Amino acid sequence: MSDFKSEINEIEGIYQIKIDVPFAVKYVCLYLFELEGKKILIDSGLNMGNWKKKLFSAFEQMNISIKDIDYCIISHIHTDHIGLVKILKKKNPELKILMHDITHELLRWQTDNNNLKELEIQARETADQLIKYGMSEEKGNKIIQFFTFWPRFLQYQKPDIEMHDGDTIFDKLKIIWTPGHSFGHICIFYKKKRYLFSGDHILSRITPHIGNFVVPKHLAEEYKDYDFKNILMHYLVSLDKIDNLKPKIIFPGHQEIIYNPHERILEIKEHHKNRLKEISSLIKDNPMTAYRISQIHFGEDLDEMNSYMALSEVLGHLFYLEAEGKVKITERKGKLLYYC
Ligand SMILES: [Zn+2]
Repeated sequence: MSDFKSEINEIEGIYQIKIDVPFAVKYVCLYLFELEGKKILIDSGLNMGNWKKKLFSAFEQMNISIKDIDYCIISHIHTDHIGLVKILKKKNPELKILMHDITHELLRWQTDNNNLKELEIQARETADQLIKYGMSEEKGNKIIQFFTFWPRFLQYQKPDIEMHDGDTIFDKLKIIWTPGHSFGHICIFYKKKRYLFSGDHILSRITPHIGNFVVPKHLAEEYKDYDFKNILMHYLVSLDKIDNLKPKIIFPGHQEIIYNPHERILEIKEHHKNRLKEISSLIKDNPMTAYRISQIHFGEDLDEMNSYMALSEVLGHLFYLEAEGKVKITERKGKLLYYC
C-alpha cells in the first residue's frame, strides 16, 4: 500500500519500530530489546485503521513472532500506547503485560460500560468547569462527547503484573512513576546502560500536553494526598526525577531519539518558565479568562479538541501560579477571570 510508512531502526541493541499515525505527532514508536534472554516490548501501539497490520508486518520484517515476546510494558493509558494490548495478549497468552496500577484502574473504569453514567457525569462536570473558564457553551458541550469518545478505542486487558514507582524487573529495569502528561504515566530506566524509555513524558521537539484528567471518584479518594489541580507541578517534579537518573539516551514514544537528555530536560523546563512569565505579564492588571489567554497564545480558529488542549494547557500554568499565590481570581458574569 502506498500509505505504508513504517521503519525499523536499531540503536545500540534496541529495536525501534516506528509506524505512522493520523495525529499531529505523526509517528508512534515501540521498542523491542532483549534482557536476560527475554524479549521486552515497550508499549503496544494504536488500535485504529490498519495499524495492527503494520505492527505485525514489522514483526515479520524483524523475523520475530508475537509468540517470541515475553513482556510488554505499557507507558500510559493513551490509545496510541495501550491500544493493541488486548490483541497482543490474545495472540500470545504467555506474554506478560505490565502497567502501573493507576493505568490499570483507569483502563478498567473507562472500558466498563457500567461506568458510562459516571463517566458522563464526570465529563459534564469537567465541561461545566471549562465553560466557567471562558469556553462557549457550544464548545463545552462538544467536549463531553470527546471525553466519552476516546475510551471506545480502549479495550480492557488485565495486567499480569501491576507496577509501582521504584519497582524493578530482573533488577535491571526500573519503573519511574512520572505523572503529568497522564496520571499513571511511567518511564522505564535500563540502569546499566542508562537508557530511558520515556513514553510521552519527554519528547524531542514538542513539550508534552499537560492536562487535567477525568479521574473516577474512588481513585481520587485512594490518592487523596495527590494534588489533582496542580498538574504542571507534578510534571516538573517528574522531569527532575528523570534528570537525577542522568540518562544517556532517551527513547521516546514519538519523534527523535534524544542523545542529550539533560539539555532537553532543561529546554522543557525553560519553556514552562517562559510560559508562566508570558501569562503573568499578559494578565498584569488585565483580568481575563483562561480561554481568552489560550486564544491569544494558540489562535482563535481551533476546533473543539484543540481548543480544549490549548485551554487545559493554559489552566495547567494558571493553577501552578495560583498554588504559588501569584494570581488572583475574580468572577464576572459566571466566568472566572485571572489577573495579577
Ligand atoms: Zn503518545
